[in-house]
Amino acid sequence: MSRRPLVVGNWKMNTSRQEAVALARAVAGVPIAGVDVVVCPPFPWLSPVRDAIAGSAVVLGAQDCWTESSGAFTGAVSPAMIGELCRYVIVGHSERRRIFGETDQLVARKLTAAITAGLLPILCVGEALEARRAGNAGRFVRSQIEIALRGQSQETVERCIIAYEPVWAIGTGVAAEPSDAEEMAREIRSCLAFAGEETGDRVRILYGGSVTPANAGAILGGANVDGALVGGASLQAGSFLGIAAAAGH
Ligand code: PEP
Repeated sequence: MSRRPLVVGNWKMNTSRQEAVALARAVAGVPIAGVDVVVCPPFPWLSPVRDAIAGSAVVLGAQDCWTESSGAFTGAVSPAMIGELCRYVIVGHSERRRIFGETDQLVARKLTAAITAGLLPILCVGEALEARRAGNAGRFVRSQIEIALRGQSQETVERCIIAYEPVWAIGTGVAAEPSDAEEMAREIRSCLAFAGEETGDRVRILYGGSVTPANAGAILGGANVDGALVGGASLQAGSFLGIAAAAGH
C-alpha cells in the first residue's frame, strides 16, 4: 500500500509573530512534490500563519487541544476552535506528558475530541531512555498506542497519524538509528491489527527526534517510516524543506 509522505514542523513555543509569518512564507514558497507539508505554530500565530500560507500546498496544524468543545476551561483551546483554522492537531507530545503531566488516558480523550471535531490527530508516542536500555521500548510504545486507540473504531484509527518520538532523541541532537526507527515503525504497524486487518498498512507513521537534513534521507528511507515530525530543524525554512524533500525520495 502506498502512503503519502508527511512532514510536520512543530514550532513549539518559538517565533515572534513576524518571525512566524516570515518562516511560513519561506516554507510555502517552495513546493515539495508528493509530500504533505504541515506547520504547527504557537496558538496566537495560527491565524497570521494561515494567511501567510494561503494558496500554497502547506497545511496548518495545532500543537495541542483540550478534550471539550467549550466551557469553563481557562487557558484551554477546543478542537472545534482549532478546526476553524487547522486540519491537523498534535496530541500526546512528550513535552505535554512530561512537563504538563498528561496521562495516556487524557491523551486518549484529546484524540477522541480531535476526531469528533473533524481534525486529523498526530498521536505522539515514544519511550524514555530507561525503557530502551531495559529492552522495554516496544512494550512501552504498544501500551501507549493501545490506551489511546483500543476503544476507537477502525475508521477513527485510520484517520490518525502516529509519530514515534523516542523521548531521549527529542531536542538532544541524538537521533535514533535508522534501523531502530524502522523497526519501531514496523512494530507499531503490526500492533494496529487490533483495529482492522489492513489498518497497519493504512496509517501513516512518522519518526521524530533530532531529524536534520543530514540524517533525514537514512531515517526516512525505511519502508515503514512515512515522514517526520520535526522540532528544532523546522524553525529554519531551508532545513525543514531539506527534510521534506528527503521524505519525497
Ligand atoms: C519534537 O519536539 O517533536 C521534535 C521531534 O523535536 P526535535 O526535532 O527538535 O528533536
